[in-house]
Amino acid sequence: MADAMTEDALREEVRAWLAANWQGLPKPQPGAGGAGWTVSPEQKAWLAKVVEARWAAPRWPEAWFGRGLPDAQARIIEREFAAVGAPGSGQDRTNLWANTLLAGGTEGLKQKLIGPLLRQEVAMCLLYSEPGAGSDLAGIRTKAEKAGDHYVVQGSKVWTSGAATADYGMLIARTDWDASKHAGISFFFLPMKQPGVEVRPLRQITDESHFNEVFITDAIVPEENLLKGLGEGWGVLQTALAYERSVMGEGARGPRSGVAESKTEEPMIALAREAGRLGDPLLRQDLAQVIAYRRLNALNTARAKADLAQGTSSPVMSLGKLAMSRILHEEARVRTAILGAGSLLEGPDHPRAEDANFLTLNAYFTSIGGGTDQIQRNIIGERVLGLPKEPEVDRDIPFREVKSGR
Ligand SMILES: Cc1cc2nc3c(=O)[nH]c(=O)nc-3n(C[C@H](O)[C@H](O)[C@H](O)COP(=O)(O)OP(=O)(O)OC[C@H]3O[C@@H](n4cnc5c(N)ncnc54)[C@H](O)[C@@H]3O)c2cc1C
Repeated sequence: MADAMTEDALREEVRAWLAANWQGLPKPQPGAGGAGWTVSPEQKAWLAKVVEARWAAPRWPEAWFGRGLPDAQARIIEREFAAVGAPGSGQDRTNLWANTLLAGGTEGLKQKLIGPLLRQEVAMCLLYSEPGAGSDLAGIRTKAEKAGDHYVVQGSKVWTSGAATADYGMLIARTDWDASKHAGISFFFLPMKQPGVEVRPLRQITDESHFNEVFITDAIVPEENLLKGLGEGWGVLQTALAYERSVMGEGARGPRSGVAESKTEEPMIALAREAGRLGDPLLRQDLAQVIAYRRLNALNTARAKADLAQGTSSPVMSLGKLAMSRILHEEARVRTAILGAGSLLEGPDHPRAEDANFLTLNAYFTSIGGGTDQIQRNIIGERVLGLPKEPEVDRDIPFREVKSGR
């Protein structure tokens, strides 16, 4: 009863705060040159208010902008924010950067960046993949060497989303070549705006340039920006990847034409209605299946996030990310089937076709980024189903002796 009363009081408090403060936000605008979405001054001002009122990360301790609330109460806050369409709450589940930093950062780095990360005042990117290390991420060859009170970094990264605008990159680099492949890796927050970091955009199949090549030559990273200890980067990475997969398990960008979709019914059902195809029995089956997959996946993601809140890097996240990849490909296929030959059109006069085509191409974002579908299947096989591990001949030898074609 006491709990129920606390929950009622909390619900009232957050409702009253939203009623007094939330007035909506202008639609986000694409960044210059299609290089991602920029955070507008209005969004930043709103997030600052949310952080100051301690709604952004209510599960976190008070020392870090939180309220130390249990999950059930934090969800009440998130539901109230969602009910009015206000962003900014629930970042203790979803903010990959801030959660990784809080879990492993030095006091100094946390003081410097946790607030700005919650308020989206600093932009971030992930410096993981390299030309010779993607799925086999522990094979990275970018190196960081100690020099006084800082490290000097050399190497190159690729497919780095958002690098062109990032202030910091979460970097994995090799700091010990005599340790085994996983044990010699450390995890840093690398300042991106410095002479030793060169960013070159890559053009995607969707005609956008969200990701980049990054060349790192004698770049400096202060000792304070090392997370956990030297050689403990693989563990930090597992936590960070689980947050990334949980976000990707919730979906990717929607249609990009800007022409509104139905808000009163499932957009794909509305599309079928608009195209006069809602009576088609085969299409109805496809629609029902995609919608059922989405609902099931939302439940699975909630389960995986509960694991993550307990501090485990849940392999169930892989299930959610894999399911979302299948859903996105399937939704794109069904949208194309609804439009029929009309899906061959393109451009501003044919926004539904443009959206179907964009979603078809963009579905690969989720099936490759954050670890491919095949890698998620390996993780599920080994860590959820308990199947034998893939053989790894280079796992326990010094990395220096690992054979490489490069
Ligand atoms: C849209 C997008 C955004 C991205 N953003 C970032 C980013 O911000 N930062 C970053 O660091 N990286 C990013 N990536 C890179 C991404 O993480 C890698 O592309 C991915 O991990 C695969 O690595 P790879 O491209 O080197 O492919 P490879 O590892 O060379 O894989 C090639 C093929 O072999 C398969 N394969 C490889 N190993 C196995 C195995 N053991 N078992 C079964 N199949 C296997 C793969 O599934 C794939 O089909 C992004 C990628 C995309 C598409």
